[in-house]
Formats: sequence, structure tokens, C-alpha cells
Amino acid sequence: MPLPLPFDTTYLTLSDHFYTRQDAAPVSAPNLIVFNHALAADLGLDTSDMTDSEAANIFSGNVTPEGADPFAQVYAGHQFGGFSSQLGDGRALHLGEIVGPQGRVDIQLKGSGPTPYSRSGDGRAWVGPVLREYLMSCAMDALGVPTTKALAAVTTGDRILREQGPLPGAIVTRVAASHIRVGTFQFFAARGDVEAIQKLTDYVIARHYLTARNPLELFEQVLQKQAELVAKWMSVGFIHGVMNTDNVQIAGETIDYGPCAFIDVYHPDTVFSSIDRQGRYAYSNQGPITHWNLAQFATSLVAIMPDTDKAIEDFTTILNRFPAVFEKEWASLFAAKLGLPPSDDITALAKDLLSRMADEKADFTNTFNALDQTEATYPDWYANWRALGPSDDVWRKTNPAIIPRTHNIEQVIKAATAGDFAPFHAMLAAVQTPFVDNDAYNQPPQDGEKVLQTFCGT
Ligand code: AMP
Ligand code: MG
Repeated sequence: MPLPLPFDTTYLTLSDHFYTRQDAAPVSAPNLIVFNHALAADLGLDTSDMTDSEAANIFSGNVTPEGADPFAQVYAGHQFGGFSSQLGDGRALHLGEIVGPQGRVDIQLKGSGPTPYSRSGDGRAWVGPVLREYLMSCAMDALGVPTTKALAAVTTGDRILREQGPLPGAIVTRVAASHIRVGTFQFFAARGDVEAIQKLTDYVIARHYLTARNPLELFEQVLQKQAELVAKWMSVGFIHGVMNTDNVQIAGETIDYGPCAFIDVYHPDTVFSSIDRQGRYAYSNQGPITHWNLAQFATSLVAIMPDTDKAIEDFTTILNRFPAVFEKEWASLFAAKLGLPPSDDITALAKDLLSRMADEKADFTNTFNALDQTEATYPDWYANWRALGPSDDVWRKTNPAIIPRTHNIEQVIKAATAGDFAPFHAMLAAVQTPFVDNDAYNQPPQDGEKVLQTFCGT
């Protein structure tokens, strides 16, 4: 075997209520777009003998690697506030888990064909969302934000039909700490399957939260991780776009890059997703929505507690701490962006800057990246900031120059759709070194380049 994938898949030891075994649907002419050799090395995989065509076969699902026992996971979830009791991997397939030097991960193909959870979807992905996920997850990783990662992307040689017309099919291979979501718990809670919730809880503790001694401690730790994660999103101007509970990963990584975007012009109410008409998942609502999503997680866990009334009280006590925990994470990240140690005064200073930026329609990334040039625009803010003696070294190292801007991604996708992947590779290199300035990717969109909405990956 060219690529040794030493599968050791524990999820399949849970009962078959948790998944359905499923093979990938073959594709006609797989072609490797990109392979993440650095990630492969981190996973302890030796890819030196692997040819591009072998990689294309494996990561398109055409060749099932030895030891893989592919399956789709079931879950449920609140989507824009409404509950769907049956979702699942509708266009994704788990090859299995491997244990590398940094722990156990899932390896999953996304866009690999229909599963029992596809509902009306075709189980496929086109090259646009595949490249967006690849760029976004590599950028987030380089920015130090916990995220699922991209191991490979391939084109399939098949055309798939979308609203825009027939488009080139593609598959991204995703690596994640696991794919267990708040929605996985909700699936069993909705069915009153207490035994399954208990099993899943034990599994999650053993896999991700070894120090948690009971469901309350698990909840406390998941809450902390989510607060850290979403505060980091805020600190780099990231909008997830679809913070449904099926897109909240229990291990605390950013997952499911659909209609997501980084903010160019700063405004707290910014929404990009075409399906988010109410602004439920607007930039500044991401903290409060995480609080709401965590309440759904707590609700699912109550079922396995011996005394329901006491459990509700105990979970509520922990849940009520979320705003303060989140605010603390936010304050420490934004203090670092100013090159200052966190305190109430510094939090106020950061919020003052943000409100001026909103008034000025300032570019989020470029303003923080050039704080020393804010004197002309915000003279009194600048004077306050300098008076506090910020560490220029700290704020410069904290604020990236390059984020994957939506209009640049759109240009990459347009070229790729026409068969030219050079812009993708150029942009990938730039977003992987976000603290190195690069004139080709550091500008907000010109009027004609503005992308006002981003669309789902479907
Ligand atoms: P998402 O909004 O991308 O997180 O997806 C929500 C649900 O829709 C998940 O259960 C997906 O598996 C499913 N889904 C999205 N796109 C497709 C597709 N093209 N085919 C089948 N299922 C899909
Ligand atoms: Mg999803």
C-alpha cells in the first residue's frame, strides 16, 4: 500500500444506532488538486512513496484503503433554531480513525456520494466549497484557531448539478479530533435513548475529556472550549455562518466551513450567509448563540442524570457562567491585539476602537495590523493607547496581515471552475503564512469585487 493508513476505528464499537456502513460512490476520473504533506507528517503518515494518482484514487473514494470500514454518522440538530431529529453525514463518509503522534483523529471524505442521511441531496460537492474549506481550514490553523484540517482535495471528473448549472465535482478529505457534535447527543435525546447518551458520554470523556469525572464536569470543560474557540473567531474577524447545533463539535474545533467568511469592513451586525436572513449568526451574535447551543447540549445530558431536578439546577449553574467565561477569553485576546495585558480598562479601550471602526467602516484585519497608523483616523484613541505603553512586539505578532478574503476566494473558485488551479495554490501559500504581508491578498474588495453573500456548500 502506498499510503499506510493504520486504521483503528473505535466509533464502530458503539452500537450500530450511531452509524451506517456505506461505501463511497465511484467517480469517473479522479485527479489530485492538492495533498497536505505537512499534515500527513504530523499524523505520522509516510507519504514518500505515494504517487498523485494513488492519492487521487484513495481520496476520491475509488480505492478503499486497507483496514478502512467506511461509515456515515447519524446526528440531529437545531438548524436556525428549528429542530431536525434526523440529520447525519449526507455527503460525507468516514474512512476511519488513525492514531498519530498527536493523538486519535477521524479521516473523512466530504462529497463522496449519497448515504442513508442524504435526504434530498446528491451527496456530492463541487470544487467551490471544497476549495473554500481547504483554504479556510488551513488559514484558521495557521492563525492558531482550533479547526478540522484538510488532508487532500481531488476533482472527480464528474459534473454535478447546482443552481448555477453543471459544475466540476470535488471531494475534500477532512481530519478532525472527532466528528461528534452537540447534534449527536440530541439525536439520542430526541429518541429518549438514555443508554446511547450514556455510551456517547463515556466515549467522549475517554476520547476528548479524560479529566472529566461526570457529565457535569464534561459540560463544564466543553463550555470552556467553546468559549475559547468562539472568542478566537471574534479575534480574527471570522463569521462561521451556520452555527447550528449539528455544526458544534464537542472537541472544540471549528467544523463545517459552509457560507463562512472573514470580515473585511468591520461592523458587529455583519452577516454573510445567504440563508441567515434574521442575522441569527451575525458576527457579534456568535457568543450568545454558543451559549444557546450549549444549553441544548446540557438538555441532552440531563437524561442520564439520576435526579432530574437537581441536574437541571446544576447544569444551569454552569451554563449561566458562559457569558463571563466568554468575556474573559475575548478580553484576553483583544488585549493581546492591542499589545497590552488584559484588564477592564483595556477591554473598554478595545471596545472603543471597535465602535470607532464600525463608524469609519474600517477594515478589521488591516486596522489591527497597522495600529501604529491609527493616529490620523482616531487621534484621541491612539493617544490613549500609546499612553498605556503597549508592547509593539506583542500586537505586531498577534495581528495577521493575511486572512482568506471572500473576494479572493471567489476569484480562486472562478479560475478552478474553469480548470485553472494556480490561483488556488498561490492563495493557499499566502494564507498559510498569515503574518507575512503579501500585497496580492491584503486588500479589502473594490466596489466591483464585493461578495455580499456566501452560499452553502451543498
Ligand atoms: P450543513 O449545513 O452543510 O452542515 O449540512 C446540513 C445537513 O445537510 C447535513 O446533514 C449534511 O450532510 C446535509 N447535506 C448538505 N449538503 C448535502 C448534499 N449535497 N447531499 C446530501 N446531504 C447534504
Ligand atoms: Mg454540518
